[in-house]
Parts: sequence; structure tokens; C-alpha cells
Amino acid sequence: MNFKKLENPGFETIAVHAGHSGDKETGARGVPLHRSTAYLFNSAEHAQNLFALKEPGNIYTRMGNPTQEVLEDRMAALEGGAAALAVASGTNAIFYTMINICSMGDEVVSSSNLYGGTYTMFDDLLPKFGITVRFGDTNNPESFRKLINEKTRALYIETIGNPSLDVADIEAFAKLAKEYEIPLVVDSTFTTPYLLRPIEMGAHIVIHSLTKWIGGHGTAIGGIVIDSGTFNWKNPKFKLYNEADGGYHGLRFAHDLGNLNPLAFILRMRTVPLRNLGGCISPDNCWMFLQGLETLALRMERHTENALAVAKFLKNHPAVSWVRYPGMEEDAAYKKASKYLPRGAGGMVVFGVKGGREAGQRFIDKLQLFSHVANVGDAKSLAIHPASTTHSQMTDEALCAGGISPEMIRLSIGIESIEDIRNDLNQALKS
Ligand SMILES: *Cc1c(COP(=O)(O)O)cnc(C)c1O
Repeated sequence: MNFKKLENPGFETIAVHAGHSGDKETGARGVPLHRSTAYLFNSAEHAQNLFALKEPGNIYTRMGNPTQEVLEDRMAALEGGAAALAVASGTNAIFYTMINICSMGDEVVSSSNLYGGTYTMFDDLLPKFGITVRFGDTNNPESFRKLINEKTRALYIETIGNPSLDVADIEAFAKLAKEYEIPLVVDSTFTTPYLLRPIEMGAHIVIHSLTKWIGGHGTAIGGIVIDSGTFNWKNPKFKLYNEADGGYHGLRFAHDLGNLNPLAFILRMRTVPLRNLGGCISPDNCWMFLQGLETLALRMERHTENALAVAKFLKNHPAVSWVRYPGMEEDAAYKKASKYLPRGAGGMVVFGVKGGREAGQRFIDKLQLFSHVANVGDAKSLAIHPASTTHSQMTDEALCAGGISPEMIRLSIGIESIEDIRNDLNQALKS
């Protein structure tokens, strides 16, 4: 069995095979779970070479381990990237990406329609470190142009925004990034590489919360960053890559890595932020995510098929005032979804219950099959009423300004039988 000998393997094949063809030492066919904190050096010279990045290898599990490496290789292969780094959570992946590009005085232009934690990080935390984030409109890439200046070091978008489900015109953002010589960073959690591969559309860095559809069973937290290897970090405005790095014995990451230079972004993230801030992923969780990846294609097919059926069912229901699903012909994002998401528009559906905030809460209480949790991307169907939970501190006016109406229900459609999903929604809407 040698996966590397296959010519042009398909997505489903890569998801099952990339990064591991069997364990050389034991013959184990499954990916071994390596629960070791540290790894033996063969000699003093070997140790020295590993620390100097002169040869690849394992040192200490905070920086990586063999189970994690399979996950990273497989995700890089699925995204068409050059290298990847897995970390403790999606949130951690976003933070390390930001501080692996920006330092004090730098700026980022981001979509305003973001995952809640990301919005708080950008709006409140990064500014405390001297990094300013300016917010543009995802539906209008030109609004980003107005916010770009000589201090801008990155553009940031989500493939499908949370919770309003707008679809980003990635190629338009990639064009802007190219024009201004700044990297385009894309959070692709809601789409996974099965539905969309942002690097093929010009993105430079792709981020996932592995916690969601990639893990797929609501059992582990993790995140990953994939680098396309195509961005020119030699541009002197990227100080972290062109000046001697105090975090790694004076190395200039864009210049001093020899034939590893195309991997500068991920190598720096591993050796500077991850090594010294410590947000590492556990080998156990890497193993779980690899297990999830093997069935990602099958699950995404069912998630999207069920979500489209739910959206159509809700559209015609008398107790529903509006529905959003980018894969439904009537949807405002349908044109972009047909271009960027030909395999389906993902597993999320949002809709409004007639009767406002109270009706929304009552609906949630009546659900039997759906779990009421603050998560998405589980094999199980999930529901939440943002106005009374995740966004309960906001007034109705502030909610509307953020694209969240008081009656909005957010559904993450699972892979159960569609009849059971529809019946549960129907009985909860009726009461
Ligand atoms: C969940 C999520 C995150 C954060 O990931 P965690 O693994 O929970 O830290 C970031 N972005 C999006 C789009 C998400 O859905």
C-alpha cells in the first residue's frame, strides 16, 4: 500500500489515506495514538539539528508529535496547502494566525459578520496588544478597499458568516489581497474542504475549528491553520519575517530557512507562538479528528442534503416568517453559493418563528430530537435561540444591527433521517 504512488487521488481517498500508510515499526494500519510528552534524541548532534530546524523530527509534544503530524499532513493535502499546524482550538488557531502576521501598530481589515468569539478577539482583545481591526461588509468587498491603508497586514473573512449565513465572494477578496500585497485569511469552518477549497480561489491562509464538522461528533475541541505556501513574506513590511527574530535565536524566517523557506509561516507559528504560548492540541484529540476526517465526505453530503430539505420545509410552514439557507434558490446568497459551493451550502439553516422572541424560546423548549446546545457541526441536530442565549445581553435594536433578529433560530442540521428531523420541527412549530 503506497498512497503516494496514486496519481491525482480524489478528495475521499485523500481524507482516508494522506499522511499515513501504516506504521513502519509495528505494522499497525490505523494511525497510532502517540501519548508521549518527549521524544528521544539519537545523539547530541541530532538534538542540535532538530532545534536549529536543520532536520525535521519530534522534540516535545507541545510543538508537535507523530499523531498530530498525520492530521496536519492530511489537512494540508485536503486543502491543497503546503503545510499545516494543529492547535488547541479554532479560537487559538485564529489568535496565533493574527500574531504570526501582525505586531503592535499593524492593522487588519475583517468582515464584521463573524463567529462571536472571533469578533470579541478582533474588536476588544487585539486592540489591547496594539493591533487594530477595521470591519467591512462581507457582501461588499469594495468596502474593504476603503479600510486598507499602509499599515494593513491581512484581510480576514469567513466562507459562510455566522449566524446570518452570508457567502463571501472569495475571489474578489483574493484580488484585493493580491493588489495590496497582503495575505487573505479565511475561516472555512462552516464549509470544510469538502465543500470549498479557498486556496484554489486565491486565499493564502485557511483556518478551521476542527471542533465542528471535521471532528463531526461533538466530542473534541481543536483548530488548524493551513498555509498555501504562496504568499511572499519577503516583503519588508512583514517585520516578523524579515527582521532577526528574538523568539528564535535571531532567525529571519523569510530568509534563513534554506529550502524550507516556502514553509516559513507554519514554521514560525510552531516555533514562536505555539512553542512559547503553549496552546497545543492533545494527541488524543488529533486521533479523534483523523477518525472524523475519514467520513467527512459522507457526512457533509448528508448534512447538506438534510439542510436543504429542512430549508424547503420551513419555507412553506405557516408558523415561519423567513428562512435563510444559501443553497435555496430564493436565498440572497444563492448566486454566490452556486459558484463557490457546488456540492452544497453546508449544514446550517437559520429562520424566524412568527411571534418574536417569546415564540422563539417556546419553540426551542418543545424540540425533542434537536439538542439545545451552543455548538454546530455535530452528527446530531442542534438548535439555539441566539437572542435569549449567546446574544442575550443585546437589545433588540443592537441584535438587528448585527443581523440577528429576536425571533431567529439557528439550526445545525445533523445526519439523522430527514423524516424524524422534519417531524420534530413540525411538532415544535405547531405548539
Ligand atoms: C466554533 C468556531 C470557531 C471557534 O472554534 P473553537 O474550536 O470553538 O475554538 C471559529 N470560527 C467558527 C466559524 C466557528 O464555528
